[in-house]
Amino acid sequence: MNILGKVTVLPKLPAALRQLEELAYNLYWTWTPNASALYRDLNPELWERFNHNPVRTLLESSQSRLDELARDSHYVARVQRVLEDFDAYMNAQETWTTRHAQGLGKIAYFSMEYGFHESLPIYSGGLGVLAGDHCKSASDLGLPFVAVGLLFHQGYFRQMINRDGWQEEAYDELDLTTLPLKPARTPSGDEARLSIAIAGRNVHLRVWELKIGRIPVYLLDSNLPENDEHDRSLTARLYGGNQEWRIQQELILGVGGVRALRLLGVDATVFHMNEGHAAFLGLERIRELVTNGLDFASAVEAVASGSIFTTHTPVPAGNDAFTLDLIGRYLSDFPTQMGTTWEGMTELARHDQPWGPTFSMTVLALRLSRAANGVSELHGEVSRKMWNFLYPGAAPEEVPIGHVTNGVHTLTFLAQRLRDLYATVLPDDWKDRLEDREMWEAALPGIADESLVATLRDLKIDMIHFVRERVAQQSRRNGASAADIKAASNVLSPDALIIGFARRFATYKRATLLFRDRARLARIVNNPERPVQFVFAGKAHPADNPGKAFIQELYRLSQEPEFKGKIVVLENYDMNVARHLVQGVDIWLNNPRRPLEASGTSGMKASLNGALNFSILDGWWRESYDGTNGYPIGDEREFSSLDAQDDADSFSLYETLEEDIVPLYYHRDERGFNHAWLEKARRAIMTVAPDFSMQRQVIDYTTKYYLPLTRRALNVQTNDFAVAKELAGWKRYVRDRWNGVSIQASADVPATAEPGEAVTVRASLDLAGLTPRDVRVEAILEGEGSRTSVPLAVNDGGTYETRVPLENSGLYTIKARVLPAHEGLSNDLELGLLKWA
Ligand SMILES: *Cc1c(COP(=O)(O)O)cnc(C)c1O
Repeated sequence: MNILGKVTVLPKLPAALRQLEELAYNLYWTWTPNASALYRDLNPELWERFNHNPVRTLLESSQSRLDELARDSHYVARVQRVLEDFDAYMNAQETWTTRHAQGLGKIAYFSMEYGFHESLPIYSGGLGVLAGDHCKSASDLGLPFVAVGLLFHQGYFRQMINRDGWQEEAYDELDLTTLPLKPARTPSGDEARLSIAIAGRNVHLRVWELKIGRIPVYLLDSNLPENDEHDRSLTARLYGGNQEWRIQQELILGVGGVRALRLLGVDATVFHMNEGHAAFLGLERIRELVTNGLDFASAVEAVASGSIFTTHTPVPAGNDAFTLDLIGRYLSDFPTQMGTTWEGMTELARHDQPWGPTFSMTVLALRLSRAANGVSELHGEVSRKMWNFLYPGAAPEEVPIGHVTNGVHTLTFLAQRLRDLYATVLPDDWKDRLEDREMWEAALPGIADESLVATLRDLKIDMIHFVRERVAQQSRRNGASAADIKAASNVLSPDALIIGFARRFATYKRATLLFRDRARLARIVNNPERPVQFVFAGKAHPADNPGKAFIQELYRLSQEPEFKGKIVVLENYDMNVARHLVQGVDIWLNNPRRPLEASGTSGMKASLNGALNFSILDGWWRESYDGTNGYPIGDEREFSSLDAQDDADSFSLYETLEEDIVPLYYHRDERGFNHAWLEKARRAIMTVAPDFSMQRQVIDYTTKYYLPLTRRALNVQTNDFAVAKELAGWKRYVRDRWNGVSIQASADVPATAEPGEAVTVRASLDLAGLTPRDVRVEAILEGEGSRTSVPLAVNDGGTYETRVPLENSGLYTIKARVLPAHEGLSNDLELGLLKWA
C-alpha cells in the first residue's frame, strides 16, 4: 500500500476559539504557561499522551468539546487574555533592539540541536536548550534573527531504564504533520526544496519553519521520497551515527543551511556558529563568493568578517574533527569551487595530532570567524589555553577567544505560580527588563515569607506528584509487584529536604559522587528528624557505556533498602522533567569535575525558582556564588589526581550538607517560619534571575559581537569587497616576507629601580621588505599577574625605542617583539604571527 500523502485537518474551530490555531503554531506558548494551559484544558488526557503538543491536542479534540468550551465564558475570557498578550508581544513597535541596537545586521544562528520544548525532541542536553533559549530571547529583544538547524524525524532517543537499571533507547518516528511546524516558503510562495551534493550524490532537502515568537527557525529534513533510504535517514537521529554520518549531517547543516537561507530570501550579515558542528557554513559561503567572481583569499576575509564562533567544549577530545581521508571523500569538490587547492582548504582546519593530521571543525570555525567565545569566564580561560598552539609565541591570555557566560530563558523555566508572585512586586514592564538586577533587588524583599513559603511548597508537592506518577509507570512497565508499584506511588515526602540532580550522564559530571561514602549518605538520608531525599534523572549517549554504567550503579543503589523511596531515579530526562524538578526541589546539586563544566545552566533554572544551587565552583557558579545565594562544593584549586579530587569534593559535599544545609533547612523561628532559608532563596532569585538570564546573555552577544561584526562585515563588502581584497592582499604580502623578519632588542635595566622610574628599550629590525607601517614593535613588561605592552616608535635612523614606566614595586621581566599590524585586523593575533627578540 502506498501512502499518497498526509494532510492535517484541524477541527472547525468555533469563532470564539479561532485564534487557538495560530497560537498553537507559535512556540510562544512554550514560555507562557497560561497559553499552554488552554490546550491542556481542551483534553488533559490527550495533552499528556502527545507530550504537551498543542497542535496535536487541537487536532484530536472533538468538535463537541470545542463547542462546549466556546460557550464557557470563563474559558473564552482566558483565551482573550492570552491573545491580547500575544498580539502585544508580536506587534510591539518598540523593542530593546529599536532602542539599543540600531543598525544591527540580520543574524543567522546555526546549531546542530535546539531544545525548545519536550514535544520537539531535537536536542540532547544543555547545548540544545541553550540554542533554543537563545532564539527565544532574540525574539523577546526584537533582534533581526533567524536560526538554522536539522529536523531529526526520530529525534534524540526516549530513555527507559529497565529492571536491571540499564538504559534502553527508543526512537519514535515524529509525525511532522502534527507538530507546530510548517513547510517554509520561498518569497514566491513555493515550498522550499533544495538539494546539495554529498560525495557525488544529490541529496534533496525540505525546509520546515518553526515560529519562535517573532523569529523563524528553519529546519532541514532529508526524509523525502526523492532520496534513497540511506539519504532519507541522514536527518533521522541527532548524534546517532559514526563519523561518516556526522560529516554528512554537518554538511546538511552548514552547506544546506546557507543554501536554504538564499532560497528563502534571507540576507544575513552576521553568521553565528554554535559549536564547530556548523563550521562548514563558512566553506559554503566562500564557495558562493568565489562563484560570484571573488578570489579565495578575499572570500575568506569577507566570510570571516561577519562570523562569530562559540565553543562549548573544555576538553580537546570533545572537539569535532575528521580524518583527512573522510574530508577527501566528502569535500573533494570544494577546493576547486572555492578557488583554492586541497592544501589551501585543509590548512584552514588543520590540527596535527599524535596519530596524524586532522580536519578540526573548531580550528575551521576559529579561522573563519573574527570573534570567538567560550561560555563562562573560566571556560574562556580554559579555551585560550587549549587553542594557544594556534598562536605560537603568544601568551594564553592573548589568544583571541573571549567569553559570554550562558544564561537561561527566564519565562521558559519559571513556574507560573512564581511568575504570578513575582509580578505582584515587580514593575509592569518586568518582562522587558529581566536582566535588570536593580529591579530584582528592589522588588524581592517585597515578597512576604508567608507567600514565598506557600508557593514553594505548592510547587514541591506538584513535583512530588509528577515523580510518583512517573516512577509508578516505570515500575509497571518493568513488571514490578503490586507492592512495589504501590511503594513507587509513595516515594518522597514534602516534609523532607529534597535535592535534585539531573543532567546528561557524561562521566565528568560524576553522578555517583554522592555515594562515595555510602554509610555516611545513609545516615544523612535516614536521619529521623531531618531526612534528606534525592531525585536523579539523566540520559547517557547511546554509545557511552561508562555513562550507562553510572545510571545502572545509581539505579541499583536507589533500590537498596536504606535508600529505597528516598533516592529516586527518574527516566527520560527532558525539558518537561527538567521544569518539574527545577521548580520543585529545595536544593539543586551539581558536582562536575572542575574545570570540565563549561558553564552549566540547570542550576540557573533552579535558582530563579527559589531552589538553592549547591555546586562545584565551576562554570557559571564560580561567577555567581557570593556567599549568600546558595552553597559551594570544594574550592577553586587543581588536584594531583582524579581520585584526590573526588575525595576532596565528596568530603566537602557531605560536610556542607550536614553542617550548613540541613540545619538551616530545618530551622524554624518564633513565628514558625524559616526566614533565614527564605532569605537565601530570595538572594538566589534576585542575583541569578537577572545575571544569568538569557536576556542578559543575548544582550552581551549583541553589544560585544553582533554589532561590531555587522560593521566589520558591511565594511569589507563595500565597493565590491575592496577592503576584503586589500586585507587579503596585505596578508599575503606579510606572510611571504615574515620568515625573513627578525628583531634584536636591548634594555637599560638597572639592578634595582623605584616606582616611577622607567626603562629604555631599543630594538632594531630586519623587516625583510615590509615597511614600518606593516608592523607593531612592542615592549612587554610582565610581572606577577600583570602584563603591559608599550609600543616602540621608529626614529629617522630606522631604530625603535621607547621608555617603559615601572609603576609598581615587584619583580618584572622585560621583553620585546614584533607583530604584523593593520587597521583592518580584528586583533593583533589574527595572522597568528609574531616574533620575539
Ligand atoms: C537545562 C537542561 C540541561 C543542561 O543542564 P546542565 O546542568 O547544564 O547540564 C540539559 N537537559 C535539559 C533537558 C535541560 O533542560
